[in-house]
Amino acid sequence: MRTTKSNRINVLDFSKHTGLDEERVISGFLHASRLGLFDLTWNVLCPGCGGVLDAHSTLKSLRHDDYHCGLCACGYEASVDEQVEVAFTVSARIRRIAAHDPTTLPLWEYFKQIFWSSGVDLNRESFESLTEEVTLDALELAAGEKAQLSLQLPPHFVIVFEPVTHSTQFIDVQGEPTRERQQLSLIYNKAHAPVGTMVMRPGPLRLSLDNQAGMRVLPTAFIAAEALHQLIGKRKPFLTAKRMLSNQTFRDVFKADNLNIDQRLKITSLTFLFTDLKGSTALYERVGDPAAFDLVRAHFHALLEIISSEKGAVHSLVRSCGVETSKTRSERVGARGSSRRC
Ligand SMILES: [Zn+2]
Repeated sequence: MRTTKSNRINVLDFSKHTGLDEERVISGFLHASRLGLFDLTWNVLCPGCGGVLDAHSTLKSLRHDDYHCGLCACGYEASVDEQVEVAFTVSARIRRIAAHDPTTLPLWEYFKQIFWSSGVDLNRESFESLTEEVTLDALELAAGEKAQLSLQLPPHFVIVFEPVTHSTQFIDVQGEPTRERQQLSLIYNKAHAPVGTMVMRPGPLRLSLDNQAGMRVLPTAFIAAEALHQLIGKRKPFLTAKRMLSNQTFRDVFKADNLNIDQRLKITSLTFLFTDLKGSTALYERVGDPAAFDLVRAHFHALLEIISSEKGAVHSLVRSCGVETSKTRSERVGARGSSRRC
């Protein structure tokens, strides 16, 4: 695996590129994480730009709300359906990679490896030319440093975004071009400052930056035009928290990490299938406990195989009943159709 590929591995992408079965790949990475080869993270994504708003090491630590994307100026409630990504990073104990120390990553590597999620389909060929086209200017500012940028504002909306603190300043550039130098000062600190919008005219701007965040920041002035959409507008499938909730290996291997009842995370759809072995009490009475137990066990064995082949997971088995989840209705219908055969 190349270094950049060892950070936030998109396992669905991995499966596609290696030709290995998705479910087996997910299982393999989960077992490897359990053994300490990978660190598993639950990343809350912005549905607008695909940025990672927060990364958690356990499912339990996900909060249900107050995630805010500065770049898109929107607040989100975390929905585990499509908005929480499960990604795998090689453990620092196994091999150190640059992403283990994000403050050392060059600006665009920081955007690629830390800010944007594994679901943003960045085009390798056009990445450099597109970033050049969308970026008015960008710089690295160490903790405590101040700097000034001289920009020439184009007749387009401009976003000054800082991906470490997620601070954003919008500049609504409109009106007649001016030759007079316009001024704007931005201070970065640990608090997520509210996103502001300034109206300015096309022409020169002196941007004064003051880093009081106590860590390196990477202020970047983007031109919000078509090229920005081309750069980050394409998506690819990624492993969602919802799929993980319906994964048998996850349920078996990470038993302790499950949602708490008071987490109140938004799940817009998750299918539960309840099964019951009709007349099981009468069966136990008719054939006796040992024979009936063997039959029920054979029934569960067949049921578990079908559930696993339909990408579902078993939540509990009680004497002759089962509860199973699948992430989509069609998989559940498939499981039900198959279970008729047993
Ligand atoms: Zn966003």
